[in-house]
Amino acid sequence: MEIDILGLIQLQDCDKKIKQASNKKKLGPIKIQGLEEELGEGEMKFQKEYDLLDSLQKERRAIGQDVQELESKADKSKTKLENIKSNKEYTAALKEIDNIVKEKTQIEDREIQLMEEIESLEKKCKEYKSDQAELRKKFEQEKKNIETEIKKLDRELKLFEKEKKKITDSINKNILSTYNFLIERKNGLAIGPVIEGVCKSCHMKLPPQKYNELRKGELMQTCPNCNRIIYWGENEKFIMKSGEI
Ligand SMILES: [Zn+2]
Repeated sequence: MEIDILGLIQLQDCDKKIKQASNKKKLGPIKIQGLEEELGEGEMKFQKEYDLLDSLQKERRAIGQDVQELESKADKSKTKLENIKSNKEYTAALKEIDNIVKEKTQIEDREIQLMEEIESLEKKCKEYKSDQAELRKKFEQEKKNIETEIKKLDRELKLFEKEKKKITDSINKNILSTYNFLIERKNGLAIGPVIEGVCKSCHMKLPPQKYNELRKGELMQTCPNCNRIIYWGENEKFIMKSGEI
């Protein structure tokens, strides 16, 4: 079976380019998804802090009301104090006022604590918000870059496929089916050179008889060890052409 070695070398090179471009194309959406997840996580973190801030602000407002209520309660008790006749009642009223003051002090302490927490949370939320805005901006830019890259790869793939069609059309169908069988199973390497008697794909030395046949012939030969299609790599026309591709 006569074989067009140069055609097969070109075809293998073309298949390699197609595979590389397709693999690169697949990475784009994965990268976009990763960035989207990062954004989502940031959003969740921000929301958590924001919800906490909201509940602390509510608590603070409630405390404000409580303080007012306690103040009016204390006023009433003081008025009561002025009209008291007996000592016992007087002591009881004083104790009541004392309790109100204590309670008021306690919640005012909590209010101060809340104010500090709110202030630090507000700062944190503001930072989160600006970080998120920055991240979103980066994300949009990155997404745009990836989409442009995918479009470029699509154009390249179209050209490679066209090139591949042109090459395959000129190759013997039986040899082509052997090539296709091998390229699928041999890690994208269906054809390789033999240099100084050694198959460069699997590094095994060819039997002398086989090597002589390879040097002579135009017929299809395969490596006895790795079964790939082989050609005599020291032949000048292959050295020059395969180097160019
Ligand atoms: Zn081999």
